[in-house]
Amino acid sequence: MTRVFSHPDPAITHLVLNRLEQLGVDAVVQGQANGRGMGEIPPIAAWSEVWVADGASLADVEAAVAEVTAEPVPDSENWTCPTCDEVVGGQFSACWACGTSAPDVA
Ligand SMILES: [Zn+2]
Repeated sequence: MTRVFSHPDPAITHLVLNRLEQLGVDAVVQGQANGRGMGEIPPIAAWSEVWVADGASLADVEAAVAEVTAEPVPDSENWTCPTCDEVVGGQFSACWACGTSAPDVA
């Protein structure tokens, strides 16, 4: 197993875990702070961690981590799909409902 990601918020590591599972990567979360002696161990040791099986695609892992941790694009505003009128978050370049590209994206 290889540790590929760690974060103080278990919710974030679980988001990464879920994304990896969607990609077919065998992964687990370890090291959650729950039930451990906070204050007796260095803070970094209380971070929850995502571990993947040996041989997992590092490209998939990096993609999953990037998706979960990506900062929203600055000054991105919601846009309305010209095809189905779905309101789509500005960080998305295509409509999640029908796949139409954002009007201002080449
Ligand atoms: Zn649409």
